[in-house]
Amino acid sequence: MSKVWFSSLKGTDQSKIAEKVLMLHSAAQFQDTLVKNGYTAVKIHFGEKNNTGYIKPDWIKPWLKKINESGCKTFLTDTNTLYYGKRFNSVDHLLQAHKHGFSIDNLGVPVIIADGLLSKNFTEVPIPGKHFKSVKIVNDVLHSNTLMVLSHMTGHVLSGLGAAIKNLAMGCAPRSGKQMQHADIKPQVIIENCQACGLCLKYCLKEAISFYDGVAWIDEEKCYGCGECIATCRFKAIRHSMDDASAPLQEKMAEYALGAVQDKKGKVCYFNFLTHITQECDCMSKAQDKITEDIGILASYDPVAIDQASIDLLKAQTGEDTLLKLWPDNDYNVQLNHGEKIGLGSRKYELIEI
Ligand code: SF4
Ligand code: SF4
Repeated sequence: MSKVWFSSLKGTDQSKIAEKVLMLHSAAQFQDTLVKNGYTAVKIHFGEKNNTGYIKPDWIKPWLKKINESGCKTFLTDTNTLYYGKRFNSVDHLLQAHKHGFSIDNLGVPVIIADGLLSKNFTEVPIPGKHFKSVKIVNDVLHSNTLMVLSHMTGHVLSGLGAAIKNLAMGCAPRSGKQMQHADIKPQVIIENCQACGLCLKYCLKEAISFYDGVAWIDEEKCYGCGECIATCRFKAIRHSMDDASAPLQEKMAEYALGAVQDKKGKVCYFNFLTHITQECDCMSKAQDKITEDIGILASYDPVAIDQASIDLLKAQTGEDTLLKLWPDNDYNVQLNHGEKIGLGSRKYELIEI
């Protein structure tokens, strides 16, 4: 059974988060994972343009200072996206991170986009998976001595849940690795819902969408399943196919997550932020309403346990299986089950409230 430390935000506000991150770091003894003169990668999502749900730099500023006191070389990191946006290439990505306050001036640590300018900075890592015998993991994560994974829990248009497993899986993969995970997603147009607004055409990187008979039409030969059109359509006119495309995506995510951490036993630390939880993830270029009040911050050494605990806390607060209700075709249990099956972590945990 894995340990998950939890600090509640009930009855308080977000001004206490930085303090709580330090408390959790101390309770979980994350300091012991740091290597003097070694590299510490802090995996975080800097937030797409116009998004407001991402983890705020001020929440981790004192914690980064504390990490640096150990004498390790710390950097913030993420990888470039499959879809067009402000994090599509390293140059724009760095500028976007800077705009959201993730600058060396503000935080005292640099940002390194781990897959490099052309997303070719990766190594094939062998894994004992069902879908993959090897996965592509970015080198700057692989070469780091310690990995700190900071995840903002959200729902997700393809995987139901976006938290630690998803952060590892997509966030530590180059673009080609992300594409391999998405390969089973086959978007379909619901003709009666299409308003022919053209937005999905604009955002499809593969130019796979055109108009046919006055509605959007997807060329399956060109489509590589990134899901951007599903996320973009405001009229619920595109969805992934009914044949359970989310399940293989989630299983592949768990396998990529395993590839990112399997050589770092005891050197990967997770924080999940249950703050401003939204239906869709921080890749969305829009401000989203929260689906419930802030719950708190969690810490663990186990990505499956921390995601399971996050789900359970959300359920306890709302009195229902909120994410499954929001995304009935994307049952998040798949990523947790498969993660447990392949040895990524345990769904059983002990919650230690501090
Ligand atoms: S974004 Fe949606 S409504 Fe607009 S053209 Fe595409 S499918 Fe139709
Ligand atoms: S049609 Fe395919 S490639 Fe284009 S945005 Fe949709 S999922 Fe991505």
